[in-house]
Amino acid sequence: KEKALIMDEIAINRAITRIAHEIIERNKGVDDLVLIGIHRRGVPLALRLADKMQQVEGLLPPVGVLDITLYRDDRGDATDKCIVTTTDIPFDIANKKIVMVDDVLFTGRTVRAAMDALMDMGRPKSIQLAVLIDRGHRELPIRADFVGKNVPTSSAEVVSVYVKEIDGMDKAVIEE
Ligand code: 5GP
Ligand code: MG
Repeated sequence: KEKALIMDEIAINRAITRIAHEIIERNKGVDDLVLIGIHRRGVPLALRLADKMQQVEGLLPPVGVLDITLYRDDRGDATDKCIVTTTDIPFDIANKKIVMVDDVLFTGRTVRAAMDALMDMGRPKSIQLAVLIDRGHRELPIRADFVGKNVPTSSAEVVSVYVKEIDGMDKAVIEE
């Protein structure tokens, strides 16, 4: 059940605009930058960031996709394994500055799996992380470099993120 609206369309758009500028500032431009969207809603967010960065810097950073799935065994038990199931990164990431993009950061296990996969593909110069929402509850020493909104949640709550490209609207709400 919907408890609270945390970001509306305007707030999400402002966060994307701000993060695009922060990424540009931190990296002194977009040279050697690549964005990797984490399936599923990290992908449209990465494309929007790339678009904004092109508007500001005149150069479109390449956007790739990683699909990471929480692995469950035959009995349906969740293990602590996040595995990479699909990859669409049709460019070389060696010596690139990678910015991973996801909608929600929670335990950090997805990001860990994403970093493992990226390191196996070649040696990036650096890896940074941008998320629309950080809901806390980390189980690994992982933090985001760029955050749209920090949203302290209880474990019982979930954050629903809707993006136009997939859901027909932009908003983030806390549900229980
Ligand atoms: P983590 O691996 O950090 O525990 O979870 C992050 C991944 O799971 C992200 O790809 C994110 O899409 C998804 N996720 C975890 N918690 C939530 C949540 O409360 N809401 C949404 N929308 N996604 C979540
Ligand atoms: Mg996800």
